[in-house]
Amino acid sequence: MIKAVIFDWAGTAVDYGSVAPVEGFIDGFRRIGVDITAEMARKPMGIAKLDHTRAIAAMLDQPISEEQILEAYDAFEEMMFAVVEQYCDVLPHVAETAAALRRQGIKIGSTTGYTSIMMEKVLPKAAKAGYAPDFCVTPDQAAKGRPYPYMIWQNLMQFDIADPREAVKVGDTAADIEEGKAADCWTVGVIMGSSELGLNRKEVAALPSEELTCRKAAVRAAYYKAGADYIIDDMSGLSEVIVDINRRLEQSVPRKLLTPGPLTTRDSVKRAMFTDHCTWDDEYKSITTTVLNDITQIAANDSYATVLLQGSGSYAVEAMINCLIPKEEKILFLVNGEYGKRMLTIAKDAHRSYETLAFDMTLPVDTEAVEKELQSDGDIGTVVFVHCETTSGVLNPLEKITKLAKSYGKKVLVDAMSSFAAYEIDMPGLDIDALAASSNKCLEGLPGLSFVIAKKSLLKECGGNSTSHSLDLHDQYQGLYAGGGKFRFTSPTNVLLALRQAIDEYKKEGGLPARRKRYIKNHKVLTQGLEKLGIRSIVAPEHQSYIITTFDLGDFDFSKLYAALKSKGFIIYPGKLTDLPTFRLGNIGDVYPSDMAALVTAIEEYMREHKSEEK
Ligand SMILES: *Cc1c(COP(=O)(O)O)cnc(C)c1O
Repeated sequence: MIKAVIFDWAGTAVDYGSVAPVEGFIDGFRRIGVDITAEMARKPMGIAKLDHTRAIAAMLDQPISEEQILEAYDAFEEMMFAVVEQYCDVLPHVAETAAALRRQGIKIGSTTGYTSIMMEKVLPKAAKAGYAPDFCVTPDQAAKGRPYPYMIWQNLMQFDIADPREAVKVGDTAADIEEGKAADCWTVGVIMGSSELGLNRKEVAALPSEELTCRKAAVRAAYYKAGADYIIDDMSGLSEVIVDINRRLEQSVPRKLLTPGPLTTRDSVKRAMFTDHCTWDDEYKSITTTVLNDITQIAANDSYATVLLQGSGSYAVEAMINCLIPKEEKILFLVNGEYGKRMLTIAKDAHRSYETLAFDMTLPVDTEAVEKELQSDGDIGTVVFVHCETTSGVLNPLEKITKLAKSYGKKVLVDAMSSFAAYEIDMPGLDIDALAASSNKCLEGLPGLSFVIAKKSLLKECGGNSTSHSLDLHDQYQGLYAGGGKFRFTSPTNVLLALRQAIDEYKKEGGLPARRKRYIKNHKVLTQGLEKLGIRSIVAPEHQSYIITTFDLGDFDFSKLYAALKSKGFIIYPGKLTDLPTFRLGNIGDVYPSDMAALVTAIEEYMREHKSEEK
């Protein structure tokens, strides 16, 4: 929640139109024999006044010496000191708004371009008129004035606020907004009475309304360009802004996603998205190339290549099936969950010839049945299955199935979406032809990119198979590798940068052994903790992956449990098994055994509170 609002002074809280400094600067420059316009005097408004004097001097055609600048500044200060008291009128709605905020427990801070001796005159006058902030910092009391954030920091220290996102900076110039941005506060620009509008009360009243509308739009544009989070007409709009910020703060509370993806990601991964890149930029393309190579090395070697695709994991699964299997070849799908069924839909829509072996969703693929099928149907050319069925959490015997299929001379394609980077997959050792996975599962990147790792020989010879242009793996492969990391079509540049960072994090953690170890521990803490509460896993331990687990929901209502856990910062997932009331918990992503323990405690609390009502 917002704990402090930091107001600017002239043009924001007092001195409608920020008239005093304008008069002061005109007078100061007159002293050194230079006439400046009000517009020139206003232009740098908001920054420390000596810097402001220098900025005006830089606008002039004639050269102004440092000595003259100091003389003009001294004259400005003298003049300001004499007249500033006459410009302490409090702007409309400021006193009431500050009082209302204070009643909510919000501290009222302030920063200014005025010096401390000027403020000594302004503070008592404003207080008498009903506006007295809790704290004020001037540029001469800080290391530097605006646009540097130091004056805001001093306010935050005074109020003991460690997180700048709990503070709002309100001002009437671009420099105010920049100061707030530099401090990482929320920023609000006020239009009426602002220096940016540059009109006193009389001038506003005399202006034709269309003209005023036009001038206000220009002020809005200036605040927008400076990066303001909110732009309000006058201070009566501030309370509503605070309500909205509080709503957003509440929504952005860090939460743990106990889901099969997208997952909880590290801040460094999200922050990697801050750089905007052009898709044909050489630097961007070379980053893409490093991502391709790193992914390949996780499960394969140089006789394989990774092909990145724009889109979620299903895009990669579809591209893999449709491109790497010749049109006339018969496919055998081994299905024990929703992701297996999705592959059937893909094949059906592409008018493929295929056979299906379906198994119980809580059991792994039965290799004996597979062998029988391979014996009896010689037309089958490729076997396709899901490694970890995320529907239930069942882990299929990758090695056994692959060896079996290979012994019959079949190609093997694997949906390794939720197991890649968590389970060791030795593609060359097992002679796996291709697998599909995505950025937002155990690589702990962000959603928007998927990929296929396939034998280079297969990628080279598969041209013409695809019935889809955008999902044509062969063309995408050619494009990415011949073009030095260039996607054929617009790539999710920021998501790719996040994936680059996610792979760096994966390496930093210690690669697959470390990640697997953490996931196994997570899974253990979770399942053992819930077991103690009487919440059982549906899948037998010997078939269970350490990725995601399906639990018996018993008599509990999923949506109520979901809401209760969400309010405690945990996001759980509904079950997908059709005949049983279940829920699923993933233990992958940037989550740790301590998070699992906290989740178990939260579920225990929920059960204690709801047992009587629900049973
Ligand atoms: C996540 C996942 C997919 C991809 O699903 P999308 O909805 O496209 O992200 C495919 N297969 C498995 C096994 C998965 O876990």
